[in-house]
Amino acid sequence: MNDVMIRVENLGKTFTLHNQGGVSMEVLRGVEFEVRAGECLVLNGPSGAGKSTLLRSLYANYRLQRGRVWIRHRGALLDLAGAEPRKVIEVRRETIGYVSQFLRAVPRVPALDVVAEPLRLQGETAAVARRKAATLLERLNISPRLMELAPSTFSGGEQQRVNIARGFLPGYPVLLLDEPTASLDAANRAVVIGLIEEARANGAAVVGIFHDAEVRDAVAGTVLDMVGAATESAA
Ligand code: ADP
Ligand code: MG
Repeated sequence: MNDVMIRVENLGKTFTLHNQGGVSMEVLRGVEFEVRAGECLVLNGPSGAGKSTLLRSLYANYRLQRGRVWIRHRGALLDLAGAEPRKVIEVRRETIGYVSQFLRAVPRVPALDVVAEPLRLQGETAAVARRKAATLLERLNISPRLMELAPSTFSGGEQQRVNIARGFLPGYPVLLLDEPTASLDAANRAVVIGLIEEARANGAAVVGIFHDAEVRDAVAGTVLDMVGAATESAA
């Protein structure tokens, strides 16, 4: 239960803006932390501080430039930088739940199937996956009628709740949450806080960005203050 689930060492990231004269923007510098099973690390800091960029680094969304990231996968710490693309897909399927700020649009697929898909990929039957998806969507106040419709016409808050259900349902041991409650009302924020607590009680390690101070207080995690390396320099 006390295992290190995420280890980050000396992580750095610089964006080069090729369409703006090759100006480079250092966004992350020397980021280091560990998150153990059941713990939550809260990324704090102003807009532009590099919070989302850090979460994307943990999801191996781009090649790491500087530093190292390890994720516990199938019982051992796996070096993400050295992992083959096939391994990264496996890690995402089995180990990391990533709730991005917005739902990636999937035309015509009913919300129920959007949420059930990761469970199906983990090997659940369609019937079981759909039943579990429906239970979680109802808990997030998506009605049975609505969950049969494609989320493309849903409100921002409804889409975000579908996104949350999709990220939480498979019971991943690592959860990356990018402002999951930003467009939710108080009742649904409370549901999400409950989901985070349950995941941690089951041993999940969470790294989260939370817009609302109320949610930040409720999850009571360790806080990483990010001011942004943001030293601009012409390349
Ligand atoms: P936060 O989530 O803390 O608001 P981000 O990680 O989204 O911050 O962004 C940090 C900085 O990196 C911002 O200045 C942003 O403009 C820049 N940035 C983020 N993604 C890219 C990208 N793909 N290309 C260039 N610059 C980027
Ligand atoms: Mg962000």
